[in-house]
Amino acid sequence: MSRTNPIGVAEIEAAQGTIAGTVHRTRMERSTDLSNRLGVPVHLKLEHHQRTGSFKLRGATNAVLSLSDEERKRGVVGVSTGNHGRGLAYAARQNGVRCIVAMSELVPQNKIDGIRAQGAEVRIIGCSQDDAQIEVDRLVAEEGMTMIPPFDHPGIIAGQGTLGLELAEDLPDLTTVLVQLSGGGLISGVAAALKARLPEVRVIGVSMERGAAMFECQRVGKPMIVPELTTLADSLGGGIGLDNEYTFAITRDLVDDIILVSEAEIAQAIRHAYWQEHQIIEGSGAVGIAALLSGKVKPDGPTAVILSGGNIDMNLHHRIISGEDVDVTQTTEEG
Ligand SMILES: *Cc1c(COP(=O)(O)O)cnc(C)c1O
Repeated sequence: MSRTNPIGVAEIEAAQGTIAGTVHRTRMERSTDLSNRLGVPVHLKLEHHQRTGSFKLRGATNAVLSLSDEERKRGVVGVSTGNHGRGLAYAARQNGVRCIVAMSELVPQNKIDGIRAQGAEVRIIGCSQDDAQIEVDRLVAEEGMTMIPPFDHPGIIAGQGTLGLELAEDLPDLTTVLVQLSGGGLISGVAAALKARLPEVRVIGVSMERGAAMFECQRVGKPMIVPELTTLADSLGGGIGLDNEYTFAITRDLVDDIILVSEAEIAQAIRHAYWQEHQIIEGSGAVGIAALLSGKVKPDGPTAVILSGGNIDMNLHHRIISGEDVDVTQTTEEG
């Protein structure tokens, strides 16, 4: 059953004030190439230039700064496909809070290194987000640490929503926005902000074909287990949780459409970002561009595409932009 959305624009505005000292307000840039191809102005939100390389810092910072003194003393723990862990580690370190990140074996090494570099402890457990969650639950029960999940949490959603406020401020004539969709923290916050500020905007979620958990759950009408698969969009991996409280309902109520892109389309979008836009983005950051280049989304007015992250293994990036036919779906390792 739907619960009323606890994340309104007031919570998102409050988060904007909370995180202002830590989080960059990232730039928006018009893409000449995409605007010419599509016949409408297309703007790129350069969120891969965010500190820690992704928008996840917004929610993590908001959540850490909302802890009580007692909670800060005991530390924070979270499960992550990499970028939430990095944002959480950064936010925790800024505030002198102990941080442990639990991840599955599917997480690329560069993401693990990025989290360790922020001073957090890393635990690699099992081969899915759900396996890693078991370790998080143990740390909460046995050590009294506070869990800060990557998406299904009001403070996280409000923090990610600050990106939506920036879109509305920078592009008052926006008609379509393409938002990466995994657990749905980003799209829930962005949609809540935009539907309040610019109610006519179409919010389109983009996921990868391989393991599109939220898409499958919305199709069926309830949270369920969706197998996790290797993909170039590694930050979009993982389920939405069987006991999802917020993002399933918010996505159902506020998101206008969800479309899926293939591995080849993601690789093409990474190449496009590099050669045409001079931007280095990870696979997950590229799915919005992939949706436009593939023709799967045909906007009819000013459009924003979020480049949500840039934390890609640079060897893998080099191979992709060199035109090599990279296939990460056969192994759990990157080359
Ligand atoms: C986490 C992440 C996403 C997806 O965000 P959700 O809130 O889980 O939907 C998209 N892009 C990047 C780079 C991410 O790290």
